[in-house]
Amino acid sequence: MTKYITDLKPGELIQIVTSLQEPVYRARQVSAWVYQKYARTFAEMTDLPASFREKLAAKISLHCLEPVNEIKALDGTVKVLLKTPEGSTIESALMLYAPGAGRPRTTVCLSSQVGCVIGCLFCATGQQGFIRNLTAGEIVDQVLYWQRYVKDNPNDRGEGADHITNVVFMGMGEPFMNYAAVWQAIESINSPEEVGIGARNITISTAGLVPEILKLSQEKLQVGLAISLHAPDNALRDKLVPVNRKYPLERLMQACREYLLKSGRRLSFEYIMLKGINDSVAQAGMLARLLAGMNCHVNLIPANTTDKGKYQPSPMLVVRAFQAELERGGINCTVRQSRGQDIKAGCGQLKSRFTQ
Ligand code: SAH
Ligand code: SF4
Repeated sequence: MTKYITDLKPGELIQIVTSLQEPVYRARQVSAWVYQKYARTFAEMTDLPASFREKLAAKISLHCLEPVNEIKALDGTVKVLLKTPEGSTIESALMLYAPGAGRPRTTVCLSSQVGCVIGCLFCATGQQGFIRNLTAGEIVDQVLYWQRYVKDNPNDRGEGADHITNVVFMGMGEPFMNYAAVWQAIESINSPEEVGIGARNITISTAGLVPEILKLSQEKLQVGLAISLHAPDNALRDKLVPVNRKYPLERLMQACREYLLKSGRRLSFEYIMLKGINDSVAQAGMLARLLAGMNCHVNLIPANTTDKGKYQPSPMLVVRAFQAELERGGINCTVRQSRGQDIKAGCGQLKSRFTQ
């Protein structure tokens, strides 16, 4: 089976290099080519002896994902469909932030699985079923794809942000159903010797898997966590986010409170505004009571309609009334425009949002 460089754990590249009778510093050179200079091929690594490059190429490959289709939205969001070695496709997105809107940011939205087993009703990925977990290498390779993209397309990057500054796990899949690979990928994305993005600029989004929320609260790396809530009561959440039947709101909120206590970090809650389903002022009041006293922030996201068209986005007036009620209840809250609305058609669920 082909071994990919992005799948290697710390120290493994050194082992390979030394097994080829080359000095240890060659491993650092190779890493720099892959993670800092975004090389596509061994041929680009011109300061390495050709014989070494050949021997290395026989042992490891550089990239496991191939782009098959790329689309750009009017707001500058770019989505790519990437093919895995066995021919599955996953999506990954790049979001740019308008110059002047705070610190320059170039954010990528990563997939963690091919499909998703959780089956949320409003989610295109959830309705496609589950195929398999992505490997750590496939997750990291999405970031490298975007690093190369940003380097090659200077017009498509956030002003002053000529490399990827933020990573969110909000693409296809449930990251907590693939904890080990996601965590290995995060370590590589965070490592100064590899991708080098600060832990605080990495956010995991989950549908609410209690054991993994607790596990994350114990990790040393202070990555951000967003909980996809979408409903203020069990009856509705059982339907919209079926994993709620396993981890109902009482247990989820208990885990969130424990996470806040142990990690000392703020939590984000994602709440898709679905017209006539979860967007009433009364539901906003329930949500405010559910989150009372927590160090948290709510992102309200007008839904992207999926192909089946059953769920419509709430009108902006309704969203604003919901927001006002939450704020009356003392909850921090932002209304996020979904990005890339005009290119969502055709695959997964490009909704490309980001947490604060
Ligand atoms: N499985 C994880 C992460 C991937 S989904 C999770 O559910 O959190 C990332 C985000 O996209 C979630 O908040 C999810 O609820 C949201 N999402 C799914 N379908 C959407 C749609 N049709 N419109 C807007 N956001 C959607
Ligand atoms: Fe899976 Fe997240 Fe989609 Fe739900 S919203 S089906 S958890 S990817």
